[in-house]
Amino acid sequence: MTAPGVSGIRNLHAGRFAKEPEVFTAPGRVNLIGEHTDYADGFVMPAAIDFATLAAVSEREDHRILIWSENFQEQVKQDVGTLPERGRHHWSDYPLGVVEILRREGIAGRESSRGFSMTLNGNVPLGAGLSSSASLEVASMLAVLHVAKASLAPQVMAQLCQRVENQYVGASTGIMDPFIACCGAEDHALLLDCRSLEYRLAPIPRHLSLVIANTMVKHSHAGGEYNTRRAEVEEGTAILREHRPEIRLLRDATMEDLERWGGEMPESVLKRCRHIVTENLRTVAAADALESGDLKKLGQLMAEAHASYRDDFEASCPEADVMVELAGRQQGCVGARLTGGGFGGCTVNLVETTQSAIFAERLHEGYREATGIDAEIYRCHASAAAHRVWPEDKSC
Ligand code: ADP
Ligand code: MG
Repeated sequence: MTAPGVSGIRNLHAGRFAKEPEVFTAPGRVNLIGEHTDYADGFVMPAAIDFATLAAVSEREDHRILIWSENFQEQVKQDVGTLPERGRHHWSDYPLGVVEILRREGIAGRESSRGFSMTLNGNVPLGAGLSSSASLEVASMLAVLHVAKASLAPQVMAQLCQRVENQYVGASTGIMDPFIACCGAEDHALLLDCRSLEYRLAPIPRHLSLVIANTMVKHSHAGGEYNTRRAEVEEGTAILREHRPEIRLLRDATMEDLERWGGEMPESVLKRCRHIVTENLRTVAAADALESGDLKKLGQLMAEAHASYRDDFEASCPEADVMVELAGRQQGCVGARLTGGGFGGCTVNLVETTQSAIFAERLHEGYREATGIDAEIYRCHASAAAHRVWPEDKSC
């Protein structure tokens, strides 16, 4: 995948649109711990990674929007005044959705707007679960805000980008991905309370790398299983609520609640609820462990999170279990677990940077021997939130 360089995208943009652009970047992300807790109003702890989408932008005078994606080698053209009301299942849905949502907020995209040219280039692998979509939305939003001579608080940008994906693109995604792209920090993970949107940064020691291993499988039943899980979680929550009406979502439930009333639930429902209740506790404990530098504890929590995801939530798969098990046997591995929505996708590994190259090589080899699949492995560092990269300025 082409690594998007700032001078490269400036040249591309100037060559295509004959204007010197400003350039914005927004990172992809990996979730260290906190799976399926977001819709229970619970906690997640992602980190921004050094795979990113760049958006170069310059103003136009003809009330048009022209967007070139270097990744797709394609250009779209659109009149500012006649934006489609919703997405058309095309990559341009994301940047055009940004304009439309900002228009609904009265910030950008009015008919009188003069329009803009935009060039996009990213190296976040598409559809691999590292949230290229949120990085695209956030980079585009910074670019569109720049043209509109407006600015927004990072948390507000994150909420608007979530609306782009939910209301314009038509994907029911949570707040985590745009939030970490807007509010992450170099060498830090971010503990996010999905109810209040309060967050705190927890330091990741500089000597550790985030190694993300793509199992290259996405089981076809994932969509159906996801819906079943959500229904089971709702069923369990409703049973608990009968006894304690203040339980709005599982975020409000404790292990004591499950011990007292779990017997009224079908076994599978109890297991799904137990995963979420214990995962919330583990996620907050993992932030505490990072803050106190207790890497052993962090590794244990990641192992417990994987076991809970596999056994209670039953959202792992044989390939991911193999990948996690192989990782745990390698030197320099602090912790490993399946990350993302489940049933395939990527594992996240915290690994001593000095060992990360050999770790990645051995993991790749071992996984191929066990499954016959060539995994893609990305070695990353926890990175900064979205910002302007040209002209250089870290304060936007
Ligand atoms: P993920 O967010 O896990 O990578 P999604 O399916 O949510 O997967 O988002 C991937 C989609 O985002 C791509 O299919 C494409 O439509 C869009 N996208 C991401 N990066 C770019 C880019 N650089 N140029 C154009 N579209 C992009
Ligand atoms: Mg996405």
